[in-house]
Amino acid sequence: MITLKTPQETAKMREAGRIVAEMLAACRAAVRPGVTTGELDRIAAEILKRHGAASNFKGYGVPILPPFPGVICTSVNEQVVHGIPGKRRLREGDVLSIDAGAIVEGWHADAAITVPVGAVSAEAARLLAVTEQALGRAIAAAVVGKRLGDIGAAVQRFVETQGLSIVRNYVGHGIGRAMHEEPQVPNYGAPERGLQIKEGLCIAIEPMVNIGRPETKTLADQWTVVTADGSLSAHFEHTLWCTAAGPVVLTAPDGRAAVAA
Ligand code: MG
Repeated sequence: MITLKTPQETAKMREAGRIVAEMLAACRAAVRPGVTTGELDRIAAEILKRHGAASNFKGYGVPILPPFPGVICTSVNEQVVHGIPGKRRLREGDVLSIDAGAIVEGWHADAAITVPVGAVSAEAARLLAVTEQALGRAIAAAVVGKRLGDIGAAVQRFVETQGLSIVRNYVGHGIGRAMHEEPQVPNYGAPERGLQIKEGLCIAIEPMVNIGRPETKTLADQWTVVTADGSLSAHFEHTLWCTAAGPVVLTAPDGRAAVAA
């Protein structure tokens, strides 16, 4: 079931979104060679605690999967999404995707960034830039009256013309009372197809882009998703509220309701 959110409800999601932005900013600032992904998780957990917010990541998965142990996902290099924070020490030249979420009074927000660790290759830097730009194009396409296919097509066209590939096995999602609600929001598709975007629709858009082929596989830990060919992958995500005035980025880093151009 797709639920449309009221301004009062999205105000709570924006509070959660502001906390998510703070978690990501603090993690980004702490990323350097030698830091462990577990240390970043503790930094993010401290911010949740300070705001009295709950984690929508920690404990996720039950009963199908082992409970996710972190408040963030940390996915390094060929890891696409859902990497488990722990003892892994970041190294110069790595790229690290950080996915973070928060719940305020039952309302969820979810966002991700991918950051370079020290100096990275030109190829890695371009992957990050293209993936972030793809998210920007997706946000710009999230206009009331358009369709989810317009969002997917905007991402797919841009990424593929850059010679990179879009992951198909994982998609964006509706968000609100739960982190994952209907509808699914693919990062690929045909313009003017799919669900029509209505006022009050809240979605998390999250392009995952690979340097090599789009296929993925899951590691034995049952969480970590990696590229099947071992190529580098990047992930950027924002939670949006679709309004008559345009998409509002609820997880914007400035903590305000930035309206996409
Ligand atoms: Mg998400």
